[in-house]
Amino acid sequence: MRIKEPKKRDAEFEAWENSIAGVLNDLKIWGATDDEEGKIIIAKTLLRLPCKIRRRILDSEVVFILIDAEGMADTLTFSKVVSKEDVETIGDNYCITIRQPVIFLRFRPKEKESSKMDLIAHEIAHHIAGRSLIRHRLKGGYNIGEKKADDLVMSWGFKRCYKSYKL
Ligand SMILES: [Zn+2]
Repeated sequence: MRIKEPKKRDAEFEAWENSIAGVLNDLKIWGATDDEEGKIIIAKTLLRLPCKIRRRILDSEVVFILIDAEGMADTLTFSKVVSKEDVETIGDNYCITIRQPVIFLRFRPKEKESSKMDLIAHEIAHHIAGRSLIRHRLKGGYNIGEKKADDLVMSWGFKRCYKSYKL
């Protein structure tokens, strides 16, 4: 993760921040980072989200992990500021628990760009909606977690990922 220098929030900066280049600069991504096309599709998806949601995702909340078809072995390296309350003292040692939301993405070969974007938006919706929308949450034979995530992506202008929520 890159530590950002404070930047002047002028119109020019805001235009850049809301461009593909600006989003790619702020995007936290691991895995198949040589997959330029995959990264650009994530950036394009973020640019179609409401600005507030995009900033929440980019301002440190979520790390995207792009997995290639063969799987992935990699090292996650990042800096994160933690508060004193996050540090537990055990004798002479310290223990820190880091909670970092991640979104794993593995696209099917030849999957259309638009359906990749729908899928990315769907996973972001799970994150934004929080614990109440965790997948597989069931009610009356329906997967309401998936339905609510899809309702959210619809409100952002993407297509639903599910045709039916009945189990
Ligand atoms: Zn889902």
